[in-house]
Amino acid sequence: MNLILLGPPGAGKGTQAKLLSDKLKLKHISAGDLLRAELKQESDLGKQAKKFIEAGDLVPDRLVTKLIEQEILRQGDSHGFILDGFPRNLTQAQSLDEILQSHNLLIDLVVYLKVSEPVIIQRLSGRRVCKKCFANFHLVNLPPRRVNVCDYCAGELYQRPDDKEETIRNRLKVYLESTASLIDYYQKQKKLLAVNADVDAENVFQVLGKTFQDKKLL
Ligand code: ADP
Repeated sequence: MNLILLGPPGAGKGTQAKLLSDKLKLKHISAGDLLRAELKQESDLGKQAKKFIEAGDLVPDRLVTKLIEQEILRQGDSHGFILDGFPRNLTQAQSLDEILQSHNLLIDLVVYLKVSEPVIIQRLSGRRVCKKCFANFHLVNLPPRRVNVCDYCAGELYQRPDDKEETIRNRLKVYLESTASLIDYYQKQKKLLAVNADVDAENVFQVLGKTFQDKKLL
């Protein structure tokens, strides 16, 4: 099964992607994590992407699309993939369609995580991320067992520079201007499944599991 997770920053795409990929043996492909890994390695691509990420703007399409294509083709023994944070505009969605077509692949479902603005701000401003394995925590909703220490790999937790309130506002603006139109795009392809994501992560995950079963995707 191949999925796309769509929704504003803070919708919980990363969290659901992790839960789903563990349960269903799908490869989690996170555009944000891939870009941050490039930044950390100080690769050419990372250097080019840095200023866009820090401002909360979209990184140029050609850079992101190449990264994603490589990962889609490097699936190993997984049972499919989950795209998290890609596509983020119409050009990327069209490139993705071409990439999939040329490799005889299909997207089964696009999960749209619907969330309201106050919830977004609360989630992102409390988010803490592991520097080493990129796992996500939240000061209130999902605190780590030890302060500032990752439960999984004992790495140090930090606040992403783009999770400061001012940058969050710009990311939301970019989402509304560029990404929200994809809801329509995938609705027309009859692939969209909208889910209320204002509720806690476990709840969203249960709804998704049930829907996949009803649709005979599992
Ligand atoms: P969130 O979904 O919470 O905004 P991400 O980790 O997915 O966080 O993205 C962080 C940043 O990485 C974005 O603000 C943007 O600068 C860059 N980015 C991620 N995905 C894409 C993409 N598909 N196209 C362009 N830039 C991207």
